This record gives sequence, C-alpha cells and structure tokens, in this order.
Amino acid sequence: MNDRQLLRYSRHLLLDELGIEGQQKLLEAHALILGAGGLGSPVAMYLASAGVGRLTIVDDDSVDLTNLQRQIIHTEARVGLPKVDSARQTIAALNPEVIVETIARRVDAQQLTELMGRADIAIDCTDNFATRQALNHACVATRKPLVSGAAISFDGQISVYDSRDPVSPCYACVFPPTQEVEEARCSTMGVFAPIVGMVGTLQAAEALKVLCGIGSPLVGRLLLINALRTEFNEMRLLRDPACPVCGHTAHS
Ligand SMILES: [Zn+2]
Repeated sequence: MNDRQLLRYSRHLLLDELGIEGQQKLLEAHALILGAGGLGSPVAMYLASAGVGRLTIVDDDSVDLTNLQRQIIHTEARVGLPKVDSARQTIAALNPEVIVETIARRVDAQQLTELMGRADIAIDCTDNFATRQALNHACVATRKPLVSGAAISFDGQISVYDSRDPVSPCYACVFPPTQEVEEARCSTMGVFAPIVGMVGTLQAAEALKVLCGIGSPLVGRLLLINALRTEFNEMRLLRDPACPVCGHTAHS
C-alpha cells in the first residue's frame, strides 16, 4: 500500500478486525456484480469506495428515467446510456484505482462459470429467478461464495451461500430451481427507494467481510427486512442433501 492508499483506507486500517491485512485482501480481490440496478448501485459503490481491486459488472439494460428513484449509481444526464457504462463513470469518480470490467449483455450459465473462475466472490443483484439459479450454479461449480439479495415493495431479503463451507446451503437448496415462481417486478409492484439501499448495503458489508475473512456472515441464515414496519427477522436455512445443484458435491 502506498501513502495515498494508507490515507484513503485509514478508517479501515484503524479497525482491529480488518486492519492492513484485511485491506490488502480487498485490494487484491475480484468481485462479480450481477446487475447494476437498485441493489447493484450501493453494492458497486461501497465495494469501490472500500477498495475492492477489481469489479466485473454485468447488466444488459440501459438507464431509464424510472430507474433514478432508487438506482443511485446512475444520473439524469446518463438516461439512455448502458447501465454498466454509467456505473463505470460513477466508480471512476469515486475511486479511480478500482479496475472495472463491464459486460453489457445477458450471460448464460456457462459464461457465468467462466467469469466465476476468475472472481473471488459473486454478488447477486439481479431480479430474475433463472439468472439467480445460473449464478448459484456457477458459484457451486467454482466453489466461490455468493451474496444474494432481493427487494420488492417494502420487503427485502439477504443471505450468503458459501459452497466452500460443507454445512452451508446453496441458493437452490432454499429456492429449488424447479419451483414455480411468479416474478415480482418493480415495474408492476413498486419498490420503496431505500429498501434496495438497505439490502444492497448489507450485501456489500457481507461481501467485504467474506473477502477479509472476518466476523460471522449470513451463512445458513436468511435476513428478512420490512421497511414499512421497520422489522428485521431471521430464518435458519439448512442444506438440502438432495439438492440438484450442490447435493453431489458434498464433502468431495
Ligand atoms: Zn444446494
């Protein structure tokens, strides 16, 4: 770390749990962020400001006026621009040291597995069930941790699935891929602006903890947030030995 980095990250270095060792891990880390919308905005901004060295951001959408109520990485001047390009501009202004790779198209399961082969962690900020399953598959296949988050209306949920941990469930243990899901979308359901910030900020915190190897991440726990009643609840999550995704890789 050079003198400028020692200053920039000094409030992290002062944390006993994190310190210079943890910050060095962040600087060397590579995170994949799937989705540059409401959740991806605070995730990308906090990982960048905290000094995660390399970010790969995947999103095939463009900035729309209806996004700006909650997708705080984008600005009015960038309406019409690909979201990944808008995100890159905000990150460059925030912390030019961060290397940002952008992918402005939809990625399939195989491409996600290739991407995860190079990344240390995935943060799921998408709103699409099939894409969530594909990312989980890629994380199990490459044995990389997955920080999952979702938000709609006034409700949010977040969990960490760590396939390096033999007792951790994967996303498919909890939400089976065969399950019929009704996609609840912001365009029809509405979404309270700060709920995506609350969930995304928690996802960023979990990702930084997992990368540094500190604290107790939300592995085997699902945190449920209701912003209308200001309630936080937690559910225990168990691994499913018959899970079609992680069932056969157990203890191998
Ligand atoms: Zn599983």
